Amino acid sequence: MQTTLAESFCNTAEGDTAERILRNCVHCGFCLATCPTYQILGNELDSPRGRIYLMKQVLEGATPTAKTQQHLDRCLTCRNCETTCPSGVEYGKLLDIGRRIVEEKVGRSARETVTRTALKTGLLSPMLFNSALKLGQSMRGLMPGFLQTRIPAADPAGIWPAPRHARRMLVLAGCVQPGLKPNINTATARVLDRIGISLIAAEKAGCCGAVAHHLNDHNGSLAAMRRNIDAWIPHLDAGVEAIVMTASGCGVMVKDYGWQLRDDPAYADKAARIAAATKDISEILIAERDALKPLMSPAQEVPGMVSPGGGATHRSPLTKKRIAYHPPCTLQHGQKLTGGVETLLTEAGFELTPVAEKHLCCGSAGTYSILQPDIAEQLKERKLGNLQAGSPEMIVTANIGCLTHLQSGTTVPVRHWVELLDETLAAS
Ligand code: SF4
Ligand code: SF4
Repeated sequence: MQTTLAESFCNTAEGDTAERILRNCVHCGFCLATCPTYQILGNELDSPRGRIYLMKQVLEGATPTAKTQQHLDRCLTCRNCETTCPSGVEYGKLLDIGRRIVEEKVGRSARETVTRTALKTGLLSPMLFNSALKLGQSMRGLMPGFLQTRIPAADPAGIWPAPRHARRMLVLAGCVQPGLKPNINTATARVLDRIGISLIAAEKAGCCGAVAHHLNDHNGSLAAMRRNIDAWIPHLDAGVEAIVMTASGCGVMVKDYGWQLRDDPAYADKAARIAAATKDISEILIAERDALKPLMSPAQEVPGMVSPGGGATHRSPLTKKRIAYHPPCTLQHGQKLTGGVETLLTEAGFELTPVAEKHLCCGSAGTYSILQPDIAEQLKERKLGNLQAGSPEMIVTANIGCLTHLQSGTTVPVRHWVELLDETLAAS
Protein backbone atom coordinates (compact mmCIF):
# COMPACT_ATOMS: atom_id res chain seq x y z
CA MET A 1 0.00 0.00 0.00
CA GLN A 2 1.53 3.31 -1.11
CA THR A 3 1.80 5.76 1.81
CA THR A 4 2.88 9.37 2.16
CA LEU A 5 3.38 10.10 5.84
CA ALA A 6 2.57 13.53 7.25
CA GLU A 7 5.68 15.56 8.02
CA SER A 8 5.23 15.14 11.78
CA PHE A 9 5.65 11.33 11.43
CA CYS A 10 8.44 11.34 8.82
CA ASN A 11 11.79 10.10 10.13
CA THR A 12 10.39 9.15 13.52
CA ALA A 13 10.74 5.62 14.93
CA GLU A 14 6.96 5.27 15.12
CA GLY A 15 6.44 6.68 11.62
CA ASP A 16 9.07 4.35 10.12
CA THR A 17 7.51 1.30 11.78
CA ALA A 18 3.99 2.28 10.69
CA GLU A 19 5.12 2.94 7.11
CA ARG A 20 6.91 -0.43 6.88
CA ILE A 21 3.78 -2.23 8.10
CA LEU A 22 1.39 -0.24 5.89
CA ARG A 23 3.46 -0.98 2.79
CA ASN A 24 3.04 -4.73 3.37
CA CYS A 25 -0.75 -4.53 3.16
CA VAL A 26 -1.91 -5.32 -0.37
CA HIS A 27 -5.55 -4.58 0.44
CA CYS A 28 -6.63 -8.11 -0.54
CA GLY A 29 -9.29 -8.35 2.19
CA PHE A 30 -8.59 -11.99 3.13
CA CYS A 31 -8.48 -10.87 6.78
CA LEU A 32 -12.13 -9.81 6.73
CA ALA A 33 -13.31 -13.41 6.74
CA THR A 34 -11.72 -14.18 10.13
CA CYS A 35 -12.18 -10.85 11.93
CA PRO A 36 -14.70 -11.29 14.77
CA THR A 37 -15.87 -7.65 14.79
CA TYR A 38 -16.45 -7.70 11.04
CA GLN A 39 -18.37 -10.96 11.45
CA ILE A 40 -20.61 -9.36 14.08
CA LEU A 41 -20.94 -5.77 12.79
CA GLY A 42 -20.54 -6.24 9.01
CA ASN A 43 -18.94 -2.80 8.60
CA GLU A 44 -15.65 -2.61 6.67
CA LEU A 45 -14.45 0.05 9.12
CA ASP A 46 -14.73 -2.59 11.86
CA SER A 47 -12.47 -4.95 9.91
CA PRO A 48 -8.65 -5.13 9.81
CA ARG A 49 -8.47 -3.65 6.32
CA GLY A 50 -10.83 -0.82 7.26
CA ARG A 51 -8.93 -0.01 10.43
CA ILE A 52 -5.63 -0.11 8.56
CA TYR A 53 -7.09 2.38 6.10
CA LEU A 54 -8.27 4.67 8.94
CA MET A 55 -4.81 4.58 10.56
CA LYS A 56 -3.14 5.27 7.20
CA GLN A 57 -5.32 8.38 6.76
CA VAL A 58 -4.35 9.64 10.23
CA LEU A 59 -0.65 8.97 9.61
CA GLU A 60 -0.97 10.87 6.34
CA GLY A 61 -2.34 13.92 8.15
CA ALA A 62 -6.14 13.47 8.36
CA THR A 63 -7.72 14.62 11.61
CA PRO A 64 -9.15 11.64 13.51
CA THR A 65 -12.63 11.90 15.01
CA ALA A 66 -14.51 10.16 17.81
CA LYS A 67 -15.79 7.74 15.11
CA THR A 68 -12.21 6.87 14.12
CA GLN A 69 -11.48 6.17 17.77
CA GLN A 70 -14.61 4.04 18.13
CA HIS A 71 -13.62 1.77 15.23
CA LEU A 72 -10.14 1.32 16.74
CA ASP A 73 -11.62 0.77 20.24
CA ARG A 74 -13.87 -1.97 18.89
CA CYS A 75 -10.85 -4.02 17.79
CA LEU A 76 -10.31 -6.97 20.17
CA THR A 77 -6.56 -7.10 19.43
CA CYS A 78 -7.14 -10.83 18.93
CA ARG A 79 -4.66 -10.78 16.00
CA ASN A 80 -6.70 -13.35 14.09
CA CYS A 81 -6.07 -11.09 11.08
CA GLU A 82 -2.29 -11.62 11.46
CA THR A 83 -2.77 -15.38 11.27
CA THR A 84 -4.89 -15.01 8.12
CA CYS A 85 -2.88 -12.31 6.33
CA PRO A 86 -0.81 -13.72 3.43
CA SER A 87 1.44 -10.63 3.41
CA GLY A 88 2.58 -10.84 7.03
CA VAL A 89 1.07 -7.48 8.05
CA GLU A 90 1.94 -6.84 11.71
CA TYR A 91 -1.47 -5.42 12.51
CA GLY A 92 -1.02 -5.46 16.31
CA LYS A 93 2.04 -3.21 16.19
CA LEU A 94 0.29 -0.81 13.82
CA LEU A 95 -2.77 -0.67 16.07
CA ASP A 96 -0.61 0.24 19.08
CA ILE A 97 0.73 3.22 17.12
CA GLY A 98 -2.66 4.18 15.66
CA ARG A 99 -4.48 4.03 18.98
CA ARG A 100 -1.85 6.14 20.73
CA ILE A 101 -1.95 8.87 18.08
CA VAL A 102 -5.75 8.91 17.88
CA GLU A 103 -6.10 9.04 21.68
CA GLU A 104 -3.68 11.95 21.84
CA LYS A 105 -5.67 13.89 19.23
CA VAL A 106 -9.26 12.92 20.14
CA GLY A 107 -8.96 12.48 23.91
CA ARG A 108 -11.59 10.77 26.07
CA SER A 109 -14.87 11.94 27.59
CA ALA A 110 -14.96 12.41 31.37
CA ARG A 111 -17.06 9.23 31.69
CA GLU A 112 -14.61 7.13 29.69
CA THR A 113 -11.67 8.56 31.63
CA VAL A 114 -13.30 7.66 34.96
CA THR A 115 -14.10 4.11 33.78
CA ARG A 116 -10.60 3.54 32.47
CA THR A 117 -8.94 4.95 35.58
CA ALA A 118 -11.18 2.83 37.83
CA LEU A 119 -10.33 -0.28 35.80
CA LYS A 120 -6.61 0.37 36.03
CA THR A 121 -6.74 1.11 39.75
CA GLY A 122 -8.98 -1.83 40.59
CA LEU A 123 -7.25 -4.46 38.47
CA LEU A 124 -3.71 -3.40 39.30
CA SER A 125 -4.13 -3.29 43.07
CA PRO A 126 -4.28 -6.88 44.37
CA MET A 127 -5.45 -5.56 47.75
CA LEU A 128 -8.38 -3.61 46.26
CA PHE A 129 -9.25 -6.33 43.75
CA ASN A 130 -9.12 -9.19 46.25
CA SER A 131 -11.11 -7.26 48.90
CA ALA A 132 -13.83 -6.44 46.35
CA LEU A 133 -13.81 -10.03 45.10
CA LYS A 134 -14.12 -11.49 48.62
CA LEU A 135 -16.97 -9.10 49.44
CA GLY A 136 -18.74 -10.04 46.20
CA GLN A 137 -18.22 -13.76 46.86
CA SER A 138 -19.58 -13.48 50.40
CA MET A 139 -22.76 -11.81 49.10
CA ARG A 140 -23.07 -13.95 45.99
CA GLY A 141 -26.03 -15.95 47.26
CA LEU A 142 -28.06 -12.77 47.85
CA MET A 143 -27.48 -11.39 44.36
CA PRO A 144 -29.71 -11.68 41.30
CA GLY A 145 -28.66 -14.42 38.85
CA PHE A 146 -27.10 -12.14 36.22
CA LEU A 147 -24.78 -10.60 38.87
CA GLN A 148 -23.90 -13.99 40.37
CA THR A 149 -22.60 -15.18 37.00
CA ARG A 150 -20.14 -12.29 36.95
CA ILE A 151 -18.60 -13.10 40.33
CA PRO A 152 -16.79 -16.44 40.33
CA ALA A 153 -17.32 -18.63 43.38
CA ALA A 154 -14.36 -18.86 45.80
CA ASP A 155 -11.85 -21.46 44.64
CA PRO A 156 -9.46 -23.35 46.98
CA ALA A 157 -5.79 -22.91 46.11
CA GLY A 158 -4.36 -26.36 46.77
CA ILE A 159 -0.79 -26.92 47.90
CA TRP A 160 2.26 -25.27 46.30
CA PRO A 161 5.15 -27.73 46.84
CA ALA A 162 8.18 -26.27 48.62
CA PRO A 163 11.18 -25.88 46.25
CA ARG A 164 13.28 -29.06 46.41
CA HIS A 165 14.74 -29.58 42.92
CA ALA A 166 17.94 -28.30 41.33
CA ARG A 167 15.92 -27.40 38.22
CA ARG A 168 13.91 -24.24 38.86
CA MET A 169 11.53 -22.07 36.88
CA LEU A 170 9.89 -18.76 37.67
CA VAL A 171 6.17 -18.16 37.37
CA LEU A 172 4.41 -14.86 36.81
CA ALA A 173 1.80 -14.80 39.56
CA GLY A 174 -0.38 -12.34 37.61
CA CYS A 175 -2.60 -9.55 38.92
CA VAL A 176 -6.14 -10.98 39.03
CA GLN A 177 -5.53 -14.72 38.58
CA PRO A 178 -4.25 -15.46 42.14
CA GLY A 179 -7.47 -13.97 43.56
CA LEU A 180 -9.89 -15.46 41.04
CA LYS A 181 -8.38 -18.91 40.48
CA PRO A 182 -5.44 -19.52 42.83
CA ASN A 183 -5.40 -23.22 41.98
CA ILE A 184 -4.05 -22.59 38.47
CA ASN A 185 -0.55 -21.64 39.62
CA THR A 186 -0.46 -24.22 42.43
CA ALA A 187 -1.57 -26.93 39.96
CA THR A 188 1.25 -25.82 37.64
CA ALA A 189 3.73 -26.01 40.54
CA ARG A 190 2.52 -29.55 41.40
CA VAL A 191 2.77 -30.80 37.81
CA LEU A 192 6.29 -29.39 37.43
CA ASP A 193 7.34 -30.68 40.87
CA ARG A 194 6.41 -34.23 39.78
CA ILE A 195 8.80 -34.03 36.83
CA GLY A 196 11.66 -32.60 38.87
CA ILE A 197 11.22 -28.84 38.42
CA SER A 198 10.52 -26.44 41.29
CA LEU A 199 8.35 -23.45 40.48
CA ILE A 200 9.03 -20.21 42.31
CA ALA A 201 7.63 -16.67 42.10
CA ALA A 202 9.67 -13.46 42.26
CA GLU A 203 8.34 -11.35 45.09
CA LYS A 204 8.64 -7.97 43.44
CA ALA A 205 7.07 -8.91 40.10
CA GLY A 206 3.49 -7.85 39.40
CA CYS A 207 1.12 -7.29 36.48
CA CYS A 208 2.80 -8.03 33.15
CA GLY A 209 1.79 -4.59 31.82
CA ALA A 210 -1.11 -5.82 29.65
CA VAL A 211 -3.84 -4.04 31.63
CA ALA A 212 -2.23 -0.62 31.14
CA HIS A 213 -1.35 -1.57 27.53
CA HIS A 214 -4.99 -2.45 26.75
CA LEU A 215 -6.06 0.90 28.20
CA ASN A 216 -3.55 2.79 26.04
CA ASP A 217 -1.43 3.81 29.06
CA HIS A 218 1.92 3.43 27.34
CA ASN A 219 4.07 4.74 30.19
CA GLY A 220 2.22 2.72 32.84
CA SER A 221 2.70 -0.42 30.78
CA LEU A 222 6.44 0.21 30.28
CA ALA A 223 6.86 0.88 34.02
CA ALA A 224 5.28 -2.51 34.82
CA MET A 225 7.62 -4.21 32.34
CA ARG A 226 10.73 -2.58 33.84
CA ARG A 227 9.65 -3.56 37.37
CA ASN A 228 9.24 -7.21 36.30
CA ILE A 229 12.55 -7.22 34.46
CA ASP A 230 14.29 -5.94 37.61
CA ALA A 231 12.58 -8.67 39.64
CA TRP A 232 13.37 -11.51 37.20
CA ILE A 233 16.89 -10.86 35.90
CA PRO A 234 18.61 -11.84 39.20
CA HIS A 235 16.76 -15.19 39.08
CA LEU A 236 17.87 -15.83 35.49
CA ASP A 237 21.43 -14.96 36.56
CA ALA A 238 21.07 -17.51 39.37
CA GLY A 239 20.16 -20.30 36.94
CA VAL A 240 16.37 -20.27 36.63
CA GLU A 241 15.60 -22.02 33.31
CA ALA A 242 12.47 -20.23 32.17
CA ILE A 243 9.71 -17.80 33.09
CA VAL A 244 6.47 -19.77 32.96
CA MET A 245 3.19 -18.18 31.92
CA THR A 246 -0.07 -19.78 32.99
CA ALA A 247 -2.22 -17.05 31.42
CA SER A 248 -1.68 -16.71 27.68
CA GLY A 249 -2.75 -13.04 27.83
CA CYS A 250 0.25 -12.33 30.07
CA GLY A 251 2.51 -14.59 27.99
CA VAL A 252 1.92 -12.68 24.77
CA MET A 253 2.75 -9.42 26.59
CA VAL A 254 5.96 -10.66 28.27
CA LYS A 255 7.19 -12.23 25.01
CA ASP A 256 6.84 -8.75 23.53
CA TYR A 257 9.03 -7.00 26.16
CA GLY A 258 12.00 -6.93 23.78
CA TRP A 259 9.99 -5.05 21.15
CA GLN A 260 8.29 -2.71 23.63
CA LEU A 261 11.58 -1.65 25.24
CA ARG A 262 13.75 -1.73 22.12
CA ASP A 263 14.48 2.00 22.33
CA ASP A 264 15.36 2.03 26.05
CA PRO A 265 19.17 1.70 26.25
CA ALA A 266 19.03 0.68 29.93
CA TYR A 267 16.48 -2.11 29.39
CA ALA A 268 16.55 -3.22 25.72
CA ASP A 269 19.00 -6.13 26.19
CA LYS A 270 17.49 -7.29 29.46
CA ALA A 271 13.98 -7.10 27.97
CA ALA A 272 15.05 -9.25 25.00
CA ARG A 273 16.59 -11.79 27.42
CA ILE A 274 13.37 -11.96 29.47
CA ALA A 275 11.27 -12.36 26.32
CA ALA A 276 13.47 -15.22 25.10
CA ALA A 277 13.21 -17.02 28.47
CA THR A 278 9.42 -16.74 28.60
CA LYS A 279 7.36 -19.84 27.81
CA ASP A 280 3.72 -20.78 28.02
CA ILE A 281 3.18 -23.76 30.36
CA SER A 282 2.12 -25.85 27.34
CA GLU A 283 5.51 -25.24 25.69
CA ILE A 284 7.30 -26.35 28.84
CA LEU A 285 5.25 -29.52 29.22
CA ILE A 286 5.45 -30.48 25.55
CA ALA A 287 9.26 -30.26 25.89
CA GLU A 288 9.08 -32.42 29.04
CA ARG A 289 6.73 -35.07 27.63
CA ASP A 290 9.22 -37.90 28.14
CA ALA A 291 9.23 -37.20 31.87
CA LEU A 292 5.48 -36.68 31.99
CA LYS A 293 4.27 -39.79 30.14
CA PRO A 294 5.42 -42.44 32.65
CA LEU A 295 3.52 -40.55 35.34
CA MET A 296 0.22 -41.01 33.56
CA SER A 297 -1.51 -44.09 34.90
CA PRO A 298 -1.20 -47.21 32.75
CA ALA A 299 -4.44 -48.23 31.09
CA GLN A 300 -6.44 -50.82 32.95
CA GLU A 301 -8.76 -53.46 31.65
CA VAL A 302 -12.42 -52.65 32.25
CA PRO A 303 -14.26 -55.85 33.17
CA GLY A 304 -17.11 -56.67 30.82
CA MET A 305 -16.29 -53.97 28.26
CA VAL A 306 -15.29 -55.04 24.76
CA SER A 307 -13.59 -52.83 22.18
CA PRO A 308 -14.92 -52.54 18.60
CA GLY A 309 -12.08 -54.86 17.50
CA GLY A 310 -13.28 -57.59 19.85
CA GLY A 311 -10.59 -57.29 22.56
CA ALA A 312 -11.01 -56.05 26.12
CA THR A 313 -11.47 -52.28 26.49
CA HIS A 314 -8.77 -50.39 28.38
CA ARG A 315 -9.28 -47.15 30.30
CA SER A 316 -7.35 -45.14 32.78
CA PRO A 317 -8.56 -45.52 36.40
CA LEU A 318 -9.75 -41.90 36.19
CA THR A 319 -13.05 -41.33 34.53
CA LYS A 320 -11.79 -39.40 31.55
CA LYS A 321 -14.07 -36.57 30.71
CA ARG A 322 -15.34 -35.30 27.39
CA ILE A 323 -13.99 -31.80 27.25
CA ALA A 324 -14.17 -28.88 24.83
CA TYR A 325 -11.01 -26.82 24.48
CA HIS A 326 -11.03 -23.09 23.74
CA PRO A 327 -7.59 -21.93 22.52
CA PRO A 328 -7.25 -18.26 23.54
CA CYS A 329 -6.36 -15.79 20.76
CA THR A 330 -3.31 -14.77 22.78
CA LEU A 331 -2.07 -18.36 22.51
CA GLN A 332 -3.01 -19.28 18.93
CA HIS A 333 -2.68 -15.91 17.17
CA GLY A 334 -0.50 -13.87 19.54
CA GLN A 335 2.06 -16.56 20.42
CA LYS A 336 1.40 -18.80 17.39
CA LEU A 337 1.14 -21.85 19.66
CA THR A 338 -1.28 -24.47 18.40
CA GLY A 339 -1.79 -28.15 19.12
CA GLY A 340 0.30 -28.44 22.32
CA VAL A 341 -2.56 -28.35 24.81
CA GLU A 342 -4.63 -30.74 22.70
CA THR A 343 -1.70 -33.21 22.56
CA LEU A 344 -1.13 -33.12 26.32
CA LEU A 345 -4.81 -33.55 27.17
CA THR A 346 -5.27 -36.38 24.67
CA GLU A 347 -2.21 -38.17 26.05
CA ALA A 348 -3.68 -37.74 29.54
CA GLY A 349 -6.73 -39.65 28.28
CA PHE A 350 -9.29 -36.88 27.83
CA GLU A 351 -11.66 -36.93 24.91
CA LEU A 352 -11.71 -33.62 23.06
CA THR A 353 -15.05 -32.80 21.47
CA PRO A 354 -15.04 -31.17 18.02
CA VAL A 355 -15.41 -27.36 18.21
CA ALA A 356 -16.26 -25.17 15.20
CA GLU A 357 -14.75 -21.67 14.65
CA LYS A 358 -11.79 -22.34 16.97
CA HIS A 359 -10.02 -19.34 15.49
CA LEU A 360 -12.65 -16.82 16.69
CA CYS A 361 -12.27 -14.71 19.85
CA CYS A 362 -14.64 -15.36 22.80
CA GLY A 363 -15.00 -11.61 23.43
CA SER A 364 -13.00 -11.43 26.67
CA ALA A 365 -9.90 -9.67 25.29
CA GLY A 366 -8.48 -8.09 28.45
CA THR A 367 -10.68 -5.17 29.47
CA TYR A 368 -12.75 -5.41 26.25
CA SER A 369 -15.66 -7.29 27.85
CA ILE A 370 -16.12 -4.36 30.24
CA LEU A 371 -15.54 -1.55 27.73
CA GLN A 372 -17.43 -3.12 24.77
CA PRO A 373 -20.02 -5.32 26.53
CA ASP A 374 -22.49 -5.67 23.61
CA ILE A 375 -19.95 -7.08 21.14
CA ALA A 376 -18.31 -9.15 23.90
CA GLU A 377 -21.65 -10.75 24.83
CA GLN A 378 -22.44 -11.64 21.21
CA LEU A 379 -19.04 -13.23 20.77
CA LYS A 380 -19.39 -15.12 24.05
CA GLU A 381 -22.76 -16.59 23.04
CA ARG A 382 -21.40 -17.62 19.65
CA LYS A 383 -18.31 -19.19 21.24
CA LEU A 384 -20.30 -21.06 23.91
CA GLY A 385 -22.67 -22.36 21.23
CA ASN A 386 -19.71 -23.87 19.40
CA LEU A 387 -18.02 -25.16 22.56
CA GLN A 388 -21.17 -26.82 23.87
CA ALA A 389 -22.26 -28.34 20.55
CA GLY A 390 -20.46 -31.61 21.40
CA SER A 391 -22.09 -31.82 24.88
CA PRO A 392 -18.82 -31.63 26.85
CA GLU A 393 -18.75 -32.25 30.60
CA MET A 394 -16.25 -29.44 30.96
CA ILE A 395 -14.74 -26.57 28.96
CA VAL A 396 -11.03 -25.85 29.33
CA THR A 397 -8.91 -22.94 28.23
CA ALA A 398 -5.49 -21.37 28.84
CA ASN A 399 -6.23 -17.82 29.93
CA ILE A 400 -7.93 -16.46 33.05
CA GLY A 401 -9.80 -13.75 31.10
CA CYS A 402 -11.40 -16.28 28.70
CA LEU A 403 -12.13 -18.61 31.62
CA THR A 404 -14.11 -16.11 33.70
CA HIS A 405 -15.80 -14.56 30.66
CA LEU A 406 -17.01 -17.94 29.35
CA GLN A 407 -18.03 -19.15 32.83
CA SER A 408 -20.34 -16.14 33.17
CA GLY A 409 -22.45 -17.56 30.31
CA THR A 410 -22.73 -21.27 31.10
CA THR A 411 -23.34 -23.78 33.88
CA VAL A 412 -20.78 -26.17 32.31
CA PRO A 413 -17.62 -25.85 34.45
CA VAL A 414 -14.85 -23.84 32.75
CA ARG A 415 -11.31 -24.50 33.99
CA HIS A 416 -7.65 -24.11 33.09
CA TRP A 417 -6.41 -27.24 31.30
CA VAL A 418 -3.37 -27.59 33.59
CA GLU A 419 -5.71 -28.20 36.55
CA LEU A 420 -7.04 -31.29 34.76
CA LEU A 421 -3.54 -32.51 34.05
CA ASP A 422 -2.63 -32.03 37.73
CA GLU A 423 -5.67 -34.01 38.86
CA THR A 424 -4.89 -36.79 36.37
CA LEU A 425 -1.32 -37.10 37.67
CA ALA A 426 -2.49 -37.01 41.29
CA ALA A 427 -4.91 -39.89 40.62
CA SER A 428 -2.40 -42.00 38.67
S1 SF4 B 1 -5.12 -9.87 4.57
FE1 SF4 B 1 -3.25 -8.67 5.03
S2 SF4 B 1 -2.68 -7.74 3.08
FE2 SF4 B 1 -4.83 -8.41 2.86
S3 SF4 B 1 -6.06 -6.60 3.48
FE3 SF4 B 1 -5.79 -7.85 5.32
S4 SF4 B 1 -3.97 -6.98 6.32
FE4 SF4 B 1 -3.94 -6.24 4.18
S1 SF4 C 1 -7.17 -7.92 15.86
FE1 SF4 C 1 -9.04 -9.20 15.76
S2 SF4 C 1 -10.76 -7.75 15.98
FE2 SF4 C 1 -8.91 -6.54 15.52
S3 SF4 C 1 -8.94 -6.26 13.30
FE3 SF4 C 1 -7.66 -8.09 13.70
S4 SF4 C 1 -9.09 -9.84 13.60
FE4 SF4 C 1 -10.35 -7.96 13.77
